Amino acid sequence: MGYTIPMKRILLWTNCILLLLLFSSCSGLIPGKNEEAAGEEIKTEEPAFVDVLPDMTVSSLFPADYKYEPLPTLNESARDKLIVIDPGHGGIDVGSIYREGMEGELFEKDIDLAIALRLKDFLEAAGAKIYMIRDTDVYVYHRARGGIANEVGGDLFISIHNNASQYSHVQGTEVWFYDKVDAYGRTLEELYGISSHTIASAIQNELLAALGTADRELRTDVEMAVLARTSMPAVAVEGAYMTNPDDIQLILADEYADIYAYAVAKALIGVMNEAY
Ligand SMILES: [Zn+2]
Repeated sequence: MGYTIPMKRILLWTNCILLLLLFSSCSGLIPGKNEEAAGEEIKTEEPAFVDVLPDMTVSSLFPADYKYEPLPTLNESARDKLIVIDPGHGGIDVGSIYREGMEGELFEKDIDLAIALRLKDFLEAAGAKIYMIRDTDVYVYHRARGGIANEVGGDLFISIHNNASQYSHVQGTEVWFYDKVDAYGRTLEELYGISSHTIASAIQNELLAALGTADRELRTDVEMAVLARTSMPAVAVEGAYMTNPDDIQLILADEYADIYAYAVAKALIGVMNEAY
């Protein structure tokens, strides 16, 4: 009695063979793949992180016990991830304002950009891939930023801000996050290997230690556009209050952008090496 192979099984085999053929032809088409692999062997060392450490004297405004050690580099799988950095505001959207219309007027958009550019330096030196929502003083509609991050295939989104309040006594650091789920109810941890909360928490702790600011704790907001419209894990960092007399002294200090960026980079590298 002859054995007949069920039709379904034949189709399955055919599919497998087709996939194998497709895969082998595709990998053959990837340019430079072999050269890259060969290049690995002659690569001598990891990026020298110490080169991008802020060349600064930290004034007594900031905690003296915070250590500015060379940051670790990202592990191989973390280097494959795309970090989207979103410097708050820009162009006609100036953000919060210090001394509005007066001498020494300062716009939040400019500090946010300075911090974001330093953050880019630190993370790139660690081996990260970065996409900047803006890297000059241009206007980007805030509701469009999440969509841009999705389009470029971001794995992690970080928005850089400083805060303001109508009450001058309000001060401190807060990090916003939103742990959304996709249409099938899958969590960010399931989809991206890390939650927004994990990232937010690490950044909050590191910033408090580096800046010595008051702890305004983690906050969640389902409607904040950059958090809600991004599909990847996303956080919005509010370093300090431009409207508070103590916080503004920190913001005005030359080393503020370096310290802020260093602390955020350190936290990000830590959670990414753990997660990926
Ligand atoms: Zn802002």
